[in-house]
Amino acid sequence: MKKDIRFIIAVFSVCSICIRINAQQFSDAVKQFISVNSDTLALLHAKIIDGTGGPSKPDQTILIINGKIAKVGNSIPVPGNAKTIDCSGKTVIPGMIMMHEHLFYGEYQPPYYLGLAMPSSFPKLYLAGGVTTMRTTGSVEPQTDLNIRNDINSGKMIGPNLDVTGPYIEREGIPIPEMLYIKSPEDAAKEVNYWADMGCSSFKLYMDLTRADAKAAIDAAHKRGIKITGHLCSITFREAADLGIDNLEHGFYVSSDFEKDKKEDQCNNRAQFISMLQLPENSEEMKSLAQYLIKKNVAITSTLPVFLPATGYEIFPGGGGEALVSQIKEKIEKEYSEYVNKDSIATVMLKKEMFWEKQFVDMGGRLLAGIDPTGAGRVIPGYADRIVPELLMEAGFTLTQAIKICSLNAAEYLGKQNEIGTINVGKRADLVLINGDPEKNISDIRNTEIVFKNGVGFDSKKIFESVKEKVGLY
Ligand SMILES: [Zn+2]
Repeated sequence: MKKDIRFIIAVFSVCSICIRINAQQFSDAVKQFISVNSDTLALLHAKIIDGTGGPSKPDQTILIINGKIAKVGNSIPVPGNAKTIDCSGKTVIPGMIMMHEHLFYGEYQPPYYLGLAMPSSFPKLYLAGGVTTMRTTGSVEPQTDLNIRNDINSGKMIGPNLDVTGPYIEREGIPIPEMLYIKSPEDAAKEVNYWADMGCSSFKLYMDLTRADAKAAIDAAHKRGIKITGHLCSITFREAADLGIDNLEHGFYVSSDFEKDKKEDQCNNRAQFISMLQLPENSEEMKSLAQYLIKKNVAITSTLPVFLPATGYEIFPGGGGEALVSQIKEKIEKEYSEYVNKDSIATVMLKKEMFWEKQFVDMGGRLLAGIDPTGAGRVIPGYADRIVPELLMEAGFTLTQAIKICSLNAAEYLGKQNEIGTINVGKRADLVLINGDPEKNISDIRNTEIVFKNGVGFDSKKIFESVKEKVGLY
């Protein structure tokens, strides 16, 4: 017994030394962006939106000790050695946990749609925008994403904690040359097992698979305790739910469940899209699909930024244009101007999608959120992430519900709700300090000032500044 305790103490003190040393070790490339790094830190007089969906609380103190939230409340004694930050007039939300992010930028260059790896700019931008944990939701260079994850963890590089998704599991279909195409269900299982061995912690099915492919991949992932999502087309949401999928991407917009005369295991983008366009907002069939997904415990990921029409919305949601290299920026601005007032269909579809997402949550479904920096290239990490709550409010959610979708809901999906996702004692101090009060003025949500990861504060503005005109390059 005594020996056991000695052993536990020995292990514990070795571990706490590791943690302390790790907490101190940052490369110069990282250090330049750190504005706050103190073992004991108190955020004073902050308004808190805690991630649970409950009402905001004014004038709170958050005491952070060794990277964890030690106390939260209205009148908390602050230790004399604490570094203090006066947060009067400011708001603190949990670090965002975003579930449809990528470490590549999508660009259409006929005959291809390219996935250009952005290993330098993207991790920085996500963090600057308040994202402290993210899933990569389909990788074009999984080895790069895994190395970046490790470098972020060791303090060599800045960025969120990464849930690295393996390569898109896909058969030859849409022309993305970075894709690894499978030819059989056996290939699908092989791909899952190989990349899980390499360290990937999630998987994603894509648009041209058979149900047998999907089943092989889902079973292989689940056997290893790994979750799997899908951006589907050839397989309906109901079929995927029956096969055991955990999550579906892009809301209900890409469901092929309503396609007339749908051929099994085949994707027909056009027919799928028309079916959604024809489906009334208040469709009973849609309600029944939502009910079915809830029963099967399938989460839905909302990706509103990538669906924004040109009419009535910024060219670059949240102002991300300044991060793009000018050549690409100008090309997108030109395309955008051609669509303004000519994309009423996109507007109709966005409204329906927002309605269906809200309905899903009202019925008891788990909604997650992400930005998906692909599509027409208008969605830039960080910039677009911080306006996701704004877009969810347009869908009818309150701000506190919207924040929960971007924090606790995702933490629960990842099984990390005891570590992250809310501002509660014992959780990691992953927090975003916002200058202003987004409950009074939603556009204040864009004023990210300090993003805390493990209690270490990163200067949001300085990071955004450092990545100007870099997206598209690296
Ligand atoms: Zn995507």
